[in-house]
Amino acid sequence: MKLRSYWLDTAEPAGDFRRRELPSRADVAVIGAGLTGLSTALHLARSGAEVVLLEANTVGWGASGRNGGMATTGLAISYPKAVKRYGHREAARMFTAYNDAIDTVEKVVQDEGIDCDFARTGKLTLACKPSHYEHFETSARLLHQDLGHAVELVPRSAIRSEIGSDHYHGAMVDPMAAGAHVGKLCAGLARAGDARGVSIHESCEVSELRRIGGRVHDVQTSQGVVRADQVVVATSGYTGSVTPWLRRRVVPIGSFIIVTEPLSQEVVDELLPHRRMASDSNNLLYYFRITPDNRLLFGGRARFAMSSQESDVKSGRILQRGMTKVFPQLRGTRIDYCWGGLVDMTLDQMVHAGERDGVLYSVGYSGHGVQMATHMGKVLAEMVAGDSSSNTWRNLSFPAVPGHFGPPWFLPPAGAYYKVLDAVK
Ligand SMILES: Cc1cc2nc3c(=O)[nH]c(=O)nc-3n(C[C@H](O)[C@H](O)[C@H](O)COP(=O)(O)OP(=O)(O)OC[C@H]3O[C@@H](n4cnc5c(N)ncnc54)[C@H](O)[C@@H]3O)c2cc1C
Repeated sequence: MKLRSYWLDTAEPAGDFRRRELPSRADVAVIGAGLTGLSTALHLARSGAEVVLLEANTVGWGASGRNGGMATTGLAISYPKAVKRYGHREAARMFTAYNDAIDTVEKVVQDEGIDCDFARTGKLTLACKPSHYEHFETSARLLHQDLGHAVELVPRSAIRSEIGSDHYHGAMVDPMAAGAHVGKLCAGLARAGDARGVSIHESCEVSELRRIGGRVHDVQTSQGVVRADQVVVATSGYTGSVTPWLRRRVVPIGSFIIVTEPLSQEVVDELLPHRRMASDSNNLLYYFRITPDNRLLFGGRARFAMSSQESDVKSGRILQRGMTKVFPQLRGTRIDYCWGGLVDMTLDQMVHAGERDGVLYSVGYSGHGVQMATHMGKVLAEMVAGDSSSNTWRNLSFPAVPGHFGPPWFLPPAGAYYKVLDAVK
């Protein structure tokens, strides 16, 4: 079993960007080469800006190369919850932003000719309890009423048309959602940026931002200093001490994934006949899909722990038990990959993008970043040019997480709380 992301293992890297000479100045320095940073850099370069993209590890090393590859519709919270919190109009605007975000991924993939298995196979949300299915009915009604957005309800009696399992109490299908090979997507964005003159620097960790005035900063890195007219921070769940204000607002939470050996066409057709992007309705949820080469990718927040090799292996064992509970027919199936990564949660599970201390940022995708991070790269490029109008999240207040100054000590108790919640609700 490989303790490495299947996506990164099966994608050709865009190049080796580890030993490039760092320019002394740039129009924009982007910190972090995940989907947010790669997309920001590409969109800026298209408009003619001189961009340096600074990455402590390698392109796609963070959550962007480690996720489920699901570009799904909908916010990280349910639509009824968003309506309760923000009202119908605002919730509808936010929901629409996620549809727009999938369009952004589709467009950039088309425009740049990125071969990353992007396909709109739809999203399958599965009810863990009968009451969760009732919640789906409310969601479907509100989505139709507020947005004319059609989702299909699948009662338990018909669930075998969508999934080869009797584990769930019904489902909701949204046909707009898509899947992609995120290793190839990251590499493709990097290749496109590189071709347009983005100066990509891997193994180049930013250690300090020294503000010169306005948005101008000296960016201190492990490979030297670059003076940038503007700085964009795109570090998500890997946000560290360089931006302490942001760090207090983003909680990194481990999420883990296993990938099986390639399965026969017959088994795949039984498990997920329409190749949808699936997730269930628990707080500590499972999410799964078929990979382009017919493996089952099965993920979840198996444990409330940070990702490390030891932690990933423990989580992998728990996930394998979960996978065979949902799909007993996979008992005995070999697991070829197991890994973990950090999801960037915020207190309200909403995206937050704006400017602080002369630095632009976008974080808080809360497990829904494949589409939104890519989209926010385009929005950040507009914000660099002084236009924030397409930033859907600009009016949200962004409170710090109480007691959070560094590694999140509170994850085990929070995990226990959600386990209890899933058991009773
Ligand atoms: C296991 C897992 C499964 C997920 N599944 C899905 C899914 O199916 N669908 C979905 O929509 N979302 C999913 N997500 C969330 C999604 O992957 C993220 O929201 C998204 O990738 C965030 O992209 P990003 O570019 O903002 O951050 P990242 O991809 O995390 O990139 C941040 C980068 O910043 C770099 N960095 C940090 N500090 C510094 C520094 N000081 N100097 C230089 N570089 C620095 C890091 O090395 C890292 O590469 C999942 C996440 C995980 C972990």
